[in-house]
Parts: sequence; structure tokens; C-alpha cells
Amino acid sequence: MDQEKIGKFIYKLRKEKGLTQKDIAEKLNISDNSVSKWERGINIPDISYLPFLADIFNVTVNELLNGEYDYKKKDKNYSKLNKVIAIKDLCKSYGKKQVLNNINLDIYEGEIVGLIGKNGAGKTTLIKSIINFCQIQKGEIKLFNKYISKDYEKIMNKIAVIIENPAFYLNLSGRDNIKIVSLLNNITDQNYIEKIVKELNLAKDLDKKVAKYSLGMKQRLGLVCALIKKPKLLLLDEPTNGLDPIGINELRMVLQKINQKENTTILISSHILSEIENICDRILIIDQGFLEEVDVCKLKHHHKSLESEFLEKVGVTDDNI
Ligand code: ATP
Repeated sequence: MDQEKIGKFIYKLRKEKGLTQKDIAEKLNISDNSVSKWERGINIPDISYLPFLADIFNVTVNELLNGEYDYKKKDKNYSKLNKVIAIKDLCKSYGKKQVLNNINLDIYEGEIVGLIGKNGAGKTTLIKSIINFCQIQKGEIKLFNKYISKDYEKIMNKIAVIIENPAFYLNLSGRDNIKIVSLLNNITDQNYIEKIVKELNLAKDLDKKVAKYSLGMKQRLGLVCALIKKPKLLLLDEPTNGLDPIGINELRMVLQKINQKENTTILISSHILSEIENICDRILIIDQGFLEEVDVCKLKHHHKSLESEFLEKVGVTDDNI
């Protein structure tokens, strides 16, 4: 336990709440000097005071003991008990090329998880494996606690996926493409569809043929078709591809909204590290077939950017650029 770090954290929390050492001491019925000693890292609070301190500062006891906020927690109420994705020892090769090497991964309900990696690192392959779009050599994949291979249809009803470029009927308008997706998925809530169309700023292009859409417009249409399903799990492979900065911003807001409102779990791959850093609770790096989680708390603590962490992890340093 890092006494100094805990002390600094208590000091910071106290200042944030606008409290004096005396206020804290009075609440806990102890001397001002004890609070001062905690803050100077001479002592740490006795275990019996921790729940009360946590309550005063509106943090968890764990956060107090770690001396920092749990950045993964955010304000939302996701349950660590409900695993939406559970992957064990996943191996996938194309011919002799091993792309995924003993991947183990659990993703919980309500999380937004970012997946980053160099071109060809295996991000798309991992997403395809999760939904049984490609044959794996070894491993076990459960979605919503069920084997995807056994309960495919039931599971897929709860999922929306965009991998690479979404496919559309090019000779039909955006509106007609949305109608087809609605019919296939029994979606009748027109208000919700209109809301998503508006949020993704597609309303004015809805009656154009998709063949005449730009890449960004197609990406927006793909997102509308994915989101109107109100999926419990959303898998997005490079959804920012082709979007302008406004589109990226809209996408971020829409994803955050459905995550907060519907508790939708999201796995998103992207090369835009700042977006991943912005939106995700957890970040995974895939490199040479191996998956590693970035310690987001540590990055924040050391004021290190995701970009430098990523470049370091995948073996790119200033010397070899
Ligand atoms: P990018 O960032 O460029 O989209 P990625 O991380 O999504 O890359 P994948 O598309 O998963 O990477 O590819 C991982 C590796 O698997 C690459 O070496 C790629 O050449 C290979 N690969 C992907 N699909 C196939 C396939 N159908 N047949 C053979 N090799 C493939």
C-alpha cells in the first residue's frame, strides 16, 4: 500500500469537497492531527474509518486504498457478474499464419471496450471469431453465457455487428434499406428509428440511392441499421472509418447514449486512439496474436498518452521510426 499516494488522494478529495481537516475529524470523531497525518502519508486511516471516509468523499473503499479513482467504474451501474463475452484459449490461424494466440477475454454487461492494434494485427479476426463468422482452431466462446455455436439465432438477435464496410442494397434508398432491416428484425418503433437517423445526421440523405452515398454516409447508414435493433451487444470494427470529425463526434455521443440508457455493451476497434481513450472503459491491445489490457488508471496516473503506450507495446520507439 502506498501511504503517500493514499494521503495525497485524501487531500485531493477533501479539497474537492471543500472540507477542512477539522470537518473530517469532527465527522469521524477523531483529532485534526490524525487527518493531517493521513494526508502527509505518515499514517493511513484505520480500517474502521474507511467506509465512513469513502461515504464522505463518495468513492469506494478500494479507491481510497488504491489512492486513485477507479476510471473503469465511471458513473454507471454495470454488473461485474454478467459476462456478455467470455473467451477462453481462443486460437485462430489462416493456413500456417497464427493470427490469434490463446486469447482469454471477459467483457461485462455495460462496458465499452476498445480494441487497438496495427494493421493486420487480428482485430477483425477476433470480432469475426466472436460471432462465429470464421472457423476457429481452438477455444471456447460464450456470449450471454451461451455457446454461440449452439444458440446462434437466439444470441444473434441480441447483437448488432458492423465489420469492415456494411453491405446494402445499392439501388435502393437509405430509407428502403432501413425498412428492410426493420422488417427482418421486427422493429416497429418508428419514433426510435427517426431519432437514431436524426442523431446520426442522415435524415437529409435518406431518400438518395445508397449507390450515391459517400463512404461516411454509408457508415452512418450502417450504424443506423445496427442501432435500431437496440442490441444488447454492439460489435463495431473501425466504425469511424470514412467519418468526418463531425460524424466521429456524433458517433461518440450516440454510443455513449445507448450505453448509458440501454446498458448496451460495446466492443469497438479503431485506429483513432484519442476516440478509444475518450469513450472506452477498458482498452485492449492486440499484437502478434496476443491480447493485452492497457492499465488505464496507470496511464492517467503517469499522464501518459494511449498513443505512446501503444507505440511502446507494439515495439515502435523513437529510435526505430
Ligand atoms: P486492419 O487494422 O488492417 O483492419 P486487423 O487488425 O483487423 O487489420 P485482420 O483483418 O484480423 O487484422 O487480419 C489479421 C491477419 O489475418 C492479417 O495478417 C491478414 O492478412 C490475415 N487474414 C485476414 N483474413 C484472412 C483470410 N480470409 N485469409 C487469409 N488470411 C487472412
